[in-house]
Amino acid sequence: RAIVRELDRIKEQNPSVVSGVIPLQETDPSVFESRFLQTIRKLGEGHFGKVELCMYDPQGGHTGQLVAVKSLKSERDGLESSNLRREVNTMRELYHQNIVKYKGICNEEGGRTIKLIMEYLPAGSLKEYLPRNRANTSEHRLLLYALQICQGMEYLGSQNYIHRDLAARNVLMESETLVKIGDFGLTKSIKDNEEYYTVREDQDSPVYWYAPECLIHRKFYKASDVWSFGVTLYELMTYCERKSYPPDMFQNMIGRSHGQMTMARLVKALEEGRRLPCPPSCPDVVYTQMRRCWGYSPEDRVDFKSLIEVFERLLS
Ligand code: ADP
Ligand code: MG
Repeated sequence: RAIVRELDRIKEQNPSVVSGVIPLQETDPSVFESRFLQTIRKLGEGHFGKVELCMYDPQGGHTGQLVAVKSLKSERDGLESSNLRREVNTMRELYHQNIVKYKGICNEEGGRTIKLIMEYLPAGSLKEYLPRNRANTSEHRLLLYALQICQGMEYLGSQNYIHRDLAARNVLMESETLVKIGDFGLTKSIKDNEEYYTVREDQDSPVYWYAPECLIHRKFYKASDVWSFGVTLYELMTYCERKSYPPDMFQNMIGRSHGQMTMARLVKALEEGRRLPCPPSCPDVVYTQMRRCWGYSPEDRVDFKSLIEVFERLLS
């Protein structure tokens, strides 16, 4: 008797519990359905992948959200596809105010290809933004961006990741006062007890952002990212202007050549202590930080923690 009464009471409060009706499955917000994804325009393109601005509009009527979608240029499966999957897995684990936010994936062709869905950052990369907005970007702002990049990188390192492609083209702008690190396409995870990652394949590596140990031994330490940060800081301080583009600066230094020859000449120049020059009107104290990033050996370099302290002091 008591049990029946109790059941009636529960039934009234929550009919689905007792009647056997299963409540509608909450849909996974990180799975985006291909049919609701509308491409608006291309945002950028790399060797294998492209990034497009899309609207995800399951309700219809263009009431949806804007997202940035990274996919492979050619739909064939293979190494590149597994790289994109790895990029998804990396981004999914990162939560920081200075790292581009992962939103989810979109499976296509029955799961044979995937797309990476991220938050859309309207102002694009520093490389696109800075040359156009030089007049309204103060030195103070540049140092703020430098600080935020270091904070994102410090977090990435604390999670035992090495970015391997830190450059102005991969730093995206949320607003005039907030930048975020993106493009985890080359990012590698190192185990707690390991100090570096060794790459096997290295076509298309951004050599002019790379430290000597990356070029010579293909070894990547957290300190190799610090070197790349130094080059990124150089890009910031030159407002990413065309005539100071690091590859052109280095090629002017070592002479034009191709492939292994370039690599050998670049390594030799770095061994001889040659470095990018102090950008025009860049304060000494900021150029000093670049030089501290460009110590020949990984152990000769500053780390992101100390860089954060320096930029915080400069900004206060
Ligand atoms: P790739 O691996 O091809 O270099 P990236 O992730 O660096 O791909 O993206 C390429 C370009 O696309 C970036 O330099 C930037 O201009 C643009 N882009 C990438 N992600 C976003 C985003 N979330 N919001 C706005 N623009 C983006
Ligand atoms: Mg990129």
